[in-house]
Amino acid sequence: MTMTQTGPSSIGEATFAEFAGGLRGTALRPGDEDYDRERNIWNGAHDRRPAVIARCAGVADVIRTIDLARSEGLPLAVRGGGHSIAGFSTCDEGIVLDLSPMKGVRVDPAHRRVTAQAGCRWQDLDAETQQFGLALTGGLMSTTGIAGFTTGGGLGWLMRRCGLASDNLVGADVVTADGQFIHTDAGEHPELFWGLRGGGGNFGVVTSFEYQLHDVGPTVYAGLVFYPADEAEQVLRGYRAACAQAPDELTTLVNMTTAPPVPFLPESVHGKPIIAVGGCWSGELDAGEAATAAFRSLGTVISDVFAPNPYAAWQQALDPLFPRGMHNYFRSAFLRTAGDASLRALLDSFARLPNAMSELHLYRLGGAVSRVAADATAFSQRDQEYLVEVIARTPTAEGFGAVVDWARGVTSALGPDAAMYVNFTGEGSESIVRASYPPDTYRRLVAVKDQYDPTNLFRLNQNIPPSV
Ligand SMILES: Cc1cc2nc3c(=O)[nH]c(=O)nc-3n(C[C@H](O)[C@H](O)[C@H](O)COP(=O)(O)OP(=O)(O)OC[C@H]3O[C@@H](n4cnc5c(N)ncnc54)[C@H](O)[C@@H]3O)c2cc1C
Repeated sequence: MTMTQTGPSSIGEATFAEFAGGLRGTALRPGDEDYDRERNIWNGAHDRRPAVIARCAGVADVIRTIDLARSEGLPLAVRGGGHSIAGFSTCDEGIVLDLSPMKGVRVDPAHRRVTAQAGCRWQDLDAETQQFGLALTGGLMSTTGIAGFTTGGGLGWLMRRCGLASDNLVGADVVTADGQFIHTDAGEHPELFWGLRGGGGNFGVVTSFEYQLHDVGPTVYAGLVFYPADEAEQVLRGYRAACAQAPDELTTLVNMTTAPPVPFLPESVHGKPIIAVGGCWSGELDAGEAATAAFRSLGTVISDVFAPNPYAAWQQALDPLFPRGMHNYFRSAFLRTAGDASLRALLDSFARLPNAMSELHLYRLGGAVSRVAADATAFSQRDQEYLVEVIARTPTAEGFGAVVDWARGVTSALGPDAAMYVNFTGEGSESIVRASYPPDTYRRLVAVKDQYDPTNLFRLNQNIPPSV
């Protein structure tokens, strides 16, 4: 998986010295002690060597870094939590604008609001908001950054009740390509605000996000139930039927995977294909057992670990299964409905899992996600009932090409024209990005791009090129 990233390879000594000297954070170059640690992102498939990594301490550093990239004509990679699967948050011979030192969070419990700097990960936000029994939809893994996650849409365990992360955004501070610092919300720069909620990092660098919050937990009823792989068809059909009756407080997914060697699974299934249903009920705790029952009786139960869990702990429960540094490639396909042909295609792909690290997820969307008008945000796939996520991984580069081929085959079998979710894609060709949005949405995104980034300074992303 390589992206072409071109540009001049060096910054003059005097220019660099002036830039670094003016930062409140730090600027690293090849040879600096922390350079190798900081150049890496979560996805080990993208081994890049930026000319400068600017570890920004605040808005002033962000403005200086954008100005440097523009004046030097260098590629600019923007990094929040560093979880870009396509590798957009690093680059060769360009500048990485790293927001990860910016982790300030302020919760306003009285108004159910939180303001968070763009370097936060979901675990940072959850820790602060859960102190007050509040939350918004965050990632299924707590290590993901709020910035890339929110600007791409943001789906997670609370989405059917609370909407996507981006549906909860009420305002943002942004530095634009010409170095202007602006605030955007429903009333100020409304088209930018629309574009930031699903259009990715195309329009500027968000320095802080303001979200509305919901009463959540702090204990939720959540877990996983595991069934034998040879009952997968029955489980998928039963899952589809159970989803049709599920209340909004319950978000679920199916995971077709290989049983990890965890103590709550019998040794006899370790390393064998297995199908699991995961869920999070965030309604009244006492009602959790009954609300999840239909999903926990879809076949022969190998193990059922649904239980009351602290929400913040449930958010971190899957983190160990997705460590940094492996070679990763994700793909996805929205499904308007989960018809029999789609289920058959998924079963066939499951039967051909290329290794024990690769897996398939089927998310049930709907609920609050579907009640937002399609033109209210740039994430406009509101009538899609399901999303398939394909995760292809190898520990190193060895064998990576074969698992990528398998992942591409999965989505082709589901229908080559199915739209992808921009946060679940391992590549960002123009055709994939264009197909990820309905035509009207795409045209509107181009208009926002023309207004806020006409020279395409922010192009290392699921890129929407300007029209001129
Ligand atoms: C292990 C793992 C689990 C995941 N789980 C989920 C999940 O449950 N739900 C879900 O919806 N997605 C999930 N994702 C996908 C995730 O939402 C995207 O990869 C997202 O881009 C990660 O955000 P980040 O800030 O960590 O990424 P980064 O790599 O830091 O940034 C990715 C891109 O986002 C843009 N960006 C980053 N910061 C800013 C900013 N401050 N302003 C403007 N643009 C910015 C840039 O274009 C950048 O290239 C997961 C990814 C991984 C690797």
